[in-house]
Amino acid sequence: MSKVTQDLEKYAELIISSGCNLQPGQELLLSASTDSCEFARMVTAEAYKQGARRVTVRFADEKISRLHFEHCALEVFKDFPEWQALLSNSMAEKGAAFLSIISDDPLAMVGIDQSKLVEHSRSSYEACKPFQQAIAEGKLVWCIVAAAAPQWAQHVFPQLSAEEAVDKLWQAIFSAVRVNTADPLAAWQQHRKSFDARKAWLNSQHFDRLHFHSELGTNLVVGLNEKGLWQGGGDITTSGTEFFPNMPTEEIFTTPNRLRAEGIVYSSMPLIHYGSPIKDFSLSFKNGKVVDCSAKVGQDVLEAILSIDKGATRLGECALVPWDSPIQQSGILFFNTLFDENASCHLALGKGFSDCFEGGQKLSEDELEAVGVNKSATHVDFMIGTANMSITGIKPDGHELPIFSKGNWAF
Ligand code: ZN
Repeated sequence: MSKVTQDLEKYAELIISSGCNLQPGQELLLSASTDSCEFARMVTAEAYKQGARRVTVRFADEKISRLHFEHCALEVFKDFPEWQALLSNSMAEKGAAFLSIISDDPLAMVGIDQSKLVEHSRSSYEACKPFQQAIAEGKLVWCIVAAAAPQWAQHVFPQLSAEEAVDKLWQAIFSAVRVNTADPLAAWQQHRKSFDARKAWLNSQHFDRLHFHSELGTNLVVGLNEKGLWQGGGDITTSGTEFFPNMPTEEIFTTPNRLRAEGIVYSSMPLIHYGSPIKDFSLSFKNGKVVDCSAKVGQDVLEAILSIDKGATRLGECALVPWDSPIQQSGILFFNTLFDENASCHLALGKGFSDCFEGGQKLSEDELEAVGVNKSATHVDFMIGTANMSITGIKPDGHELPIFSKGNWAF
């Protein structure tokens, strides 16, 4: 067996064991692209090896998806196919684990009418409410991982041939998810623990707000919730199953107060939104709401995100990632949020996390909104961290403590 095949098998085992923590007799819904068919087969085999009751595989093809967006009329996207919603909702009700293998071409949807993408994300969110609700209530195991595919790989490594680029992207993925350590399962257990001390410190400080500064011009104060919680490193369902929603993961995050962000923030990395790039952009906030935005590339895409609903103009996430994180240090720009968000401090427009609020998983969306957790059909991460980012934590009495200095943890 070649080294790559061995690593792929180790990766598949890691995904099913640590990512999904699949239980014997549990069902698995696996979503993948036709570009990663072979890896999807390995993951399916591994799931059965670990006792899956049944693995349902949902394949999508990016080029066919693009054809839908090119040819279907706008109103088609307002009605989400019933059978697709039924698949997600019924599997959620049965307690299946949801695994997505992503391998997106960063430019798959360039030039597509943004309003169609907006309608699609709105209608899918509405139709899949029971599934979304199960996630918000902490009942479901869900996990997003990546597989190398030619279009994505060549966007990351344009100087290489398709085959070389795919090989190199696989190596970068293996290293980001610790597959090339002696015992990846143990490495992830250790990884989970390493977050605990920092989360505990942040949770014990009860900061009222954070002040972000960067050399790009960022000068933003983000207000936090009094009952806010910092999360990160791994997740656990309400019934006690430990899992990792994202592999890789390097972030510690919370949901800020939806009404309290003031100032301006500059992006530090390009954002690829549904296959359309947005570059060098800034957002100005007043009373938690975006009041102005400007992008050198992709202004229309940025405005489309902000137009999804009223929650899309407010913050749902604030995440801390040190500049010396392994993904940042790899020097690779992945053009994919799963990786790039783990290389940089970031914020997200849209939906907040119920588990970032004390007792939040027992509250409805409207109740969460009333206490400061943002409600939206979307959640879009964008990177703001730089080598010189400073973050100061400010207590309710005005007392200040450094959290980040020169891009890294200050404590
Ligand atoms: Zn994040």
